[in-house]
Amino acid sequence: MPEPAPSPDKIRFRCPQCEARLAAPRARAGAQIPCPKCSTLLTVPDGAGDADAARAEWSLARCPDCDEILKVKRASFGTPVRCPSCESDLIVDDRPQRGA
Ligand SMILES: [Zn+2]
Ligand SMILES: [Zn+2]
Repeated sequence: MPEPAPSPDKIRFRCPQCEARLAAPRARAGAQIPCPKCSTLLTVPDGAGDADAARAEWSLARCPDCDEILKVKRASFGTPVRCPSCESDLIVDDRPQRGA
């Protein structure tokens, strides 16, 4: 029987918070899974190739006013973004947020 290609059904990506290397079944592309290391909620990238781009583009932040979890473009770090939930302006920076 033929040798299978190396993990064709797995999407490999990296946790933006702790840099852990992760792999998820391709069927879960677009799904949200918690990082097994730091528990950050991650979106499985859709397909191979631009995992690093996806990693570079988006990050999760918590609104200090209403505790809503926001998806923020990394390009917006350091500039005010508006919370869609409570409409307050908040500044997101690149420092990892430690849970407790
Ligand atoms: Zn992580
Ligand atoms: Zn808010």
